[in-house]
Amino acid sequence: MRNRVLIAAAIVSALGAATPSMLFAAGCPSEPGWDYTNNGPAEWGTLFPVLCGLGVRQSPIDINTSSTIRTVLPRLKFNYNVADVVTLDHDDQTLENHGAGNSIVLGGVQYNLINIHAHTPSEHTINGESFPLELHFVHVSQAGQIAVVGVFVREGKPDKDIIVPPSGSDPSTVNFKLTGLIPKNRARFSYDGSLTTPGPDPATIGCPETVLWTVMKQPIQMSADQIQAFEASGYACWSTNNTARPVQPVNNRFVFDSPS
Ligand SMILES: [Zn+2]
Repeated sequence: MRNRVLIAAAIVSALGAATPSMLFAAGCPSEPGWDYTNNGPAEWGTLFPVLCGLGVRQSPIDINTSSTIRTVLPRLKFNYNVADVVTLDHDDQTLENHGAGNSIVLGGVQYNLINIHAHTPSEHTINGESFPLELHFVHVSQAGQIAVVGVFVREGKPDKDIIVPPSGSDPSTVNFKLTGLIPKNRARFSYDGSLTTPGPDPATIGCPETVLWTVMKQPIQMSADQIQAFEASGYACWSTNNTARPVQPVNNRFVFDSPS
């Protein structure tokens, strides 16, 4: 999970004030010691051995459908409202003002939406195949359990629920209807994993293995222009279009495959 976050304008203003000169456009991250170029994913295991390098439940993973466990998982319910203008911050910050009141219920537990961001290309792969874009909807329960929902995006029809896509010149703002970004078919994969970055918090930095992952099987569609808009906004912050950590060993984890 991570980076390009849809976040409240108030937080972005605060970040902008704190880092006025910036190499990066407004809304870009000031991550503690990592990025996607010189201190990129290949270095994270050395920079943050616990747990980016030494962990055994790291994310993302390649989902090999010949070894998933087919089962009916507890119900996943999206209590998402139609969101208004939200801001793309490229950082793991908390949604305030915008996005408040959105949640999922998974196995009877409510997880509140705190963060939405994108990776290009997708981080998870299916049988070795990636998608041009993967959205991450980050939630946390009252007990502090993180639940991330990953949604693949394939190139196709324009997503009409994206009113204003992000851009290279203004990567901070995107305007969309939240409900439009979740596939209607709720078939999904689920497994226990980690943040796909070292993380934004120096206190917990190191790809913490605290994430209950849901990866939706059905991709949504965006036009090539819309996908390029997300790539451009990533480039504006990271100086690279590639904001995907390579897949990590599955080791002895179960990956569940549920029809709903
Ligand atoms: Zn992410």
